[in-house]
Amino acid sequence: MRFSRLLVPTSKETPNDATLASHIYLIRGGFIQSVGGSGLYNFLPLGKKILDKVRAVVKDELDKAGCQEVALSFVTPATLWEESGRLEKYGKELLRFKDRKNNDFILGPTHEEMMVNLVRQSVKSYKQLPLNLYQINLKFRDEIRPRFGLMRGREFLMKDGYSFHASVEDMHREFALMEETYKKIFTRLGLEFRVVEADSGAIGGSGSKEFMVLADSGEDTIVVCPDCKYGANIEAAVKKLKIYDDTSIRSTNYVEEEYIFDDSSIENLSNYLGKDKYFFVKKIYKKAIFKDETKIVVFFLRGTDYLEETKATNSIGALELVDPTQQEIEDSGLSSAGPIIGDYNSLPNDAIYRIDNGLKNQHNLIMGANSKNKIFKGMSLIEERHKDSFADISAVQEGDACIHCGGALTYTKGIEAGHIFQLGTQYSEPLGCNLLDENGKSVPMVMGTYGIGVSRLLAGIIEQNHDDKGCIWTKESAPFDLHIIISNIKDKAQVALGEKLYETLKSKGVDVLLDDRKERFGPKIKDFELMGVPHGVLIGKKLADGMVEFMTRDGMLKEEMSSEEILSFLEGKF
Ligand code: ATP
Ligand code: MG
Repeated sequence: MRFSRLLVPTSKETPNDATLASHIYLIRGGFIQSVGGSGLYNFLPLGKKILDKVRAVVKDELDKAGCQEVALSFVTPATLWEESGRLEKYGKELLRFKDRKNNDFILGPTHEEMMVNLVRQSVKSYKQLPLNLYQINLKFRDEIRPRFGLMRGREFLMKDGYSFHASVEDMHREFALMEETYKKIFTRLGLEFRVVEADSGAIGGSGSKEFMVLADSGEDTIVVCPDCKYGANIEAAVKKLKIYDDTSIRSTNYVEEEYIFDDSSIENLSNYLGKDKYFFVKKIYKKAIFKDETKIVVFFLRGTDYLEETKATNSIGALELVDPTQQEIEDSGLSSAGPIIGDYNSLPNDAIYRIDNGLKNQHNLIMGANSKNKIFKGMSLIEERHKDSFADISAVQEGDACIHCGGALTYTKGIEAGHIFQLGTQYSEPLGCNLLDENGKSVPMVMGTYGIGVSRLLAGIIEQNHDDKGCIWTKESAPFDLHIIISNIKDKAQVALGEKLYETLKSKGVDVLLDDRKERFGPKIKDFELMGVPHGVLIGKKLADGMVEFMTRDGMLKEEMSSEEILSFLEGKF
């Protein structure tokens, strides 16, 4: 491709709303263009080319693993969403609209219902399974905070795959195959990534893994063990429980203690009593949003622990938790919630509360006594008394012990680029996607689902590979293999060598960009740095001495070479 013919509007201006390197450089490098509203982008020629290259890697590996590509309608009938029950649950991310006949439709944010509908019409017997169908297609989610460019768009490109099986065992086999296939995809794209355990939402279980592209700018916190392979999204991470005892707090029964100050924070009480915050029980109020109602709920944790909101939300089956006002807490009748310890359960009968597993069957606890300036010491939280109320609701902290090997856990940041999920019959059952098994019995198909954020990957690649000058594309994602700069277009010798390299390499299948613009050298080298083609050749003044420079974008390394040898060097390299 000749640069003089290419639509690549590079720019020096950082877009107003951009803070991440990938967002800034994808726009400044002329790859994408923002469209008015937030979270919508046009792909310009080079952005489209990279998107297609990433898509091709994804497709190639999936096809090799036996998956079949389809393309489902982007517009999806709302009736399907009613059948699965997600029409109500999904909330405002679903973009709903009516057609001229007043039928309701949704722009697909994910296609479980659509794919189940496809399969239920065409597959009847276990003999036709297993089946893994995927598409690489547009999705629309009316994200509450679209941001970071392609990282969190409203319209974006996703690879979504769905597998169908006659047994749970067979779904497990496919799940493992997809994990391996995804590893191949991310490795080919040159990404540093980690596969971690993920939150499986209301379904629970350990059947969900995320592929995290490691980057400090990532929105997700990942808990990793440096001593073994354990890694998990903080929403799903578990720890080995820390159990200490302090018999000096213990008494035959609880003791009530009075104190005379107003600041009853755990910090203050812990100093006053000379007891570690670990022995305190703290309560946290939240307003839980359920399908049909909202309710004030209360969570009990150790004084040293923090609430993990996703775990807490799952523990009570809520859609979302938000912070309540003081008035809402008081109106709920829960403001005097506590103590719940021992026989002293002052919660209303219908109160929803959860106690962190770290407090299960623990003794010597200290807790507010529900009246001003009083606390209880030496309390126990016995499992039998709060049978269904214990849950893992605390966040793993750095330094906590790994559940597998006891190693000290640490945090790292990641970008969720893929998610694989053991679905079971969650969609096949309500949608009646059944098969006749070997005994002629009709049973729901067992499913898995597998996603990759294809457009998000472009942002992920740049988050991991950039410097203060611009992008550094990886081999499989690069817009070109080689970027040749003719420094002075009026210099006949420079032009002749540039043209020769360009035509010869192109004829051998090397994808070359030739900067043949009537521009000064400064902007040309700046564009090389900004656009991030991994290698370049600089044909400049030194050609008079028979020399050119071979450039490696990563590190901006320059290697002088004889102009006689450069062609054979490049032919050997590409
Ligand atoms: P997130 O937690 O980042 O919102 P998600 O859990 O909603 O992601 P999935 O429903 O699992 O995402 O979608 C599959 C993949 O699609 C994700 O792993 C991610 O790479 C990509 N993806 C999700 N939302 C967006 C978005 N708004 N913009 C770009 N890519 C996205
Ligand atoms: Mg999301």
